Amino acid sequence: MLKDLAKYSHKSVKYKIRRIAKISISEEIAKQVMELISNGNLTPGQRLPSERELCETFGASRSSLREALRCLSIVGVLNARVGDGTSVAVDGQKFLRNIIEWRLITERHDIENLLEVRIALEGVSAAKAASHTTEKDIEMLRKLLAKMRASIEDKRAFASLDLQFHVMLANMSENALLVDLIALIRSQLLKAVYTVLLVPHALPHAYKEHLAIFEAIERHDSVAACKAMQSHLEAHLRRFAKAGADSGNPRGKTSQASSNGRKRACSPKP
Ligand SMILES: [Zn+2]
Repeated sequence: MLKDLAKYSHKSVKYKIRRIAKISISEEIAKQVMELISNGNLTPGQRLPSERELCETFGASRSSLREALRCLSIVGVLNARVGDGTSVAVDGQKFLRNIIEWRLITERHDIENLLEVRIALEGVSAAKAASHTTEKDIEMLRKLLAKMRASIEDKRAFASLDLQFHVMLANMSENALLVDLIALIRSQLLKAVYTVLLVPHALPHAYKEHLAIFEAIERHDSVAACKAMQSHLEAHLRRFAKAGADSGNPRGKTSQASSNGRKRACSPKP
């Protein structure tokens, strides 16, 4: 009996011991290439030395090198073109999109947390749009708002125009990183956005909130545009909470409590 117990505990310890991880040669090559980029020894657009030179310098086989470069190309760190060699990706958009998208997909994110991030980012987007906007942009926004007003009875059409309004403002901010981040957060919120519009009387309120954002942008008032955008999205968060509470989702009730009375900062210089 005692002997059996000893055998059992020995076995359980064995199961807790993890095998020591060996970093593969291709993984080590990939890590070094990433380090060379992050410390500026390799710059965006720069071509990597030839495959033969790299194999010699790394002291690695062709297959290990190819595996490393292929992995870095898939995630968007490198660009590999047949006949054109391999170079460092010019912009980090694909890489950024891949890592953030992966994080959003693999981790369970509360809709409330995503809306919080959206409020912060789109406040900046509206403020920057107000300072950069042109007469042509204002005319486009005015036409879009007219369409929103005409679609106040059509939830699906309104949802699409609502999306266009936010995309247009993000583009006006002239900050590609901001555009990407907002688009990523939004892609995770698509279902929630439509749910919110199902709340009774949501559309007329949403229209007025967009109008307030537009009027601030038209006056080139960055602080007012930021505040109007944030109060629109906070109202959005409260409507989402209400939709959750009405459907018996307890998370909706906590969201409503936590989104009330919150103060956010809108810097005068975005
Ligand atoms: Zn909106």
